[in-house]
Parts: sequence; C-alpha cells; structure tokens
Amino acid sequence: MTHNQLIKKTQNLKGVSISKIEENADGDTLYIHIKLHKRLRGICPHCHKHVPGYDSKTQERQWRALDMGTKKVILVSDVHRVKCPEHGVGTERLPGPGISPGSQKNSSNRWPASLFISLKNLSVSR
Ligand SMILES: [Zn+2]
Repeated sequence: MTHNQLIKKTQNLKGVSISKIEENADGDTLYIHIKLHKRLRGICPHCHKHVPGYDSKTQERQWRALDMGTKKVILVSDVHRVKCPEHGVGTERLPGPGISPGSQKNSSNRWPASLFISLKNLSVSR
C-alpha cells in the first residue's frame, strides 16, 4: 500500500487523486491537495445529480479532515460551482464523509463511521 492509498483509506477519500502533500513550518499540519476524478465532477451537493457548471472559474478551498496522529489534516482542492435546476448555484459535491468546503467547523462530527466500528471492535476484542 502506497502512502497515498493509506491516506485515502484512512480519510475515506473515494474518487479523488492526491496531487501533493505539504507540511507547515511547525510540522503540526498536513495539507493534502486532492483532485476530483472526472466522473465525480459537477455533482450537486444536495441531490447528488450531475448538473451543468455555473462558470469555468474554480476556487481553491481548504477544509479540516480527520487528524492523523498528532497532525491536523487540511484537505485542499479546486472546487467548481454548479447550477442545479432544483437547488440553484452552489459548490460541487466532494466525496468523503461529510466533506464540504463550507463545513469548516469542528471536525469531530465528520469522522467516518467505519472508524467508530473499528474502535468498537478493538475494545471488544481485548
Ligand atoms: Zn440539486
């Protein structure tokens, strides 16, 4: 398993490629730059349907993801705007557990359910 595969698995990132991983000067934060696969671009975050793009501009967005050990993890990606006939203009849906550039609040509510199941099984097996 490569580093990128390990990161994608622990962060539950599906349908993305990791283009770059950087560490800040203090060494306490990892910036993981991701790119959506083509088939997952242009999806409405509300109805999960492919919808037309609103404009051709993208904007780099950052949002907090599941910490890795003692390091904070920030996902970085260019995000397109889409125009859904039902939901209007918004940023395209990103894959992963609760990943949304708009949700930069406490990351504890975005941990993948599979992690909790794994921890539960771990405590049972002791
Ligand atoms: Zn929609």
